[in-house]
Amino acid sequence: MVLLLFGPPGSGKGTQSRLITNWLKIPAISTGEMLRAEIQAQTELGKSAQSVMARGGLVGDDLVNKMLLGRIAQPDCQNGFLLDGYPRTVEQAEYLDQVLAERKFPLPVILHLDVPYAALIARMTSRRQCPKCGRVYNILSNPPKHDNVCDDDGTPLVVRKDDQVEIFTERLRTYDEMTRPVLAYYNDRHYYQISGDRSPKYIFEAISSILERYGVPPPPNGTSD
Ligand code: AMP
Repeated sequence: MVLLLFGPPGSGKGTQSRLITNWLKIPAISTGEMLRAEIQAQTELGKSAQSVMARGGLVGDDLVNKMLLGRIAQPDCQNGFLLDGYPRTVEQAEYLDQVLAERKFPLPVILHLDVPYAALIARMTSRRQCPKCGRVYNILSNPPKHDNVCDDDGTPLVVRKDDQVEIFTERLRTYDEMTRPVLAYYNDRHYYQISGDRSPKYIFEAISSILERYGVPPPPNGTSD
């Protein structure tokens, strides 16, 4: 199964992506995480992406497409994968269609988490992330078990640089301008809009009941806790 998870920054994509991939045992591929790793490793790709990302814009289609192609060619993607943050432009969506067809993957299922603008701004100020494994928390609605450290590896949590208010607002603007047309592109496919202004558990239940229609077994109890 190939899943595309859409939603504006702060809509809870990271949290849902972790829940879904734990359940379906497919890898979650976040192009944002991959780019942050490239920046950290100071690769050529990282260097050219850094300034665009710092201002909340989009990295060029060619660079991101190439990075994605390399990732989905890995053996762990053979039985499907979830994409979080890709495609973000219509050009990327067309490229993905071509790659999926060439590699005989099924048509993707599109999950769109829709959250009102005001709720996103409120959430963003309480968002924290583990700099080591990338897991995302919200200190109000989805806090770690122990104060400000990651449940998985104990690393102190941080505020992402691009979660600062001005940059976050620019990311929302970019999303509206560039990514809304991608949703229109997928409108007549296996496309599902889900209200993302609910608890992570509620949203996960909504997602699992959609995916069960595609023949996957229900998630074991406790998957979303
Ligand atoms: P994310 O973690 O998905 O919010 O991505 C963080 C940043 O990485 C975005 O604001 C973009 O600058 C860049 N980025 C991530 N995915 C893409 C993509 N598919 N196309 C272009 N830029 C991307």
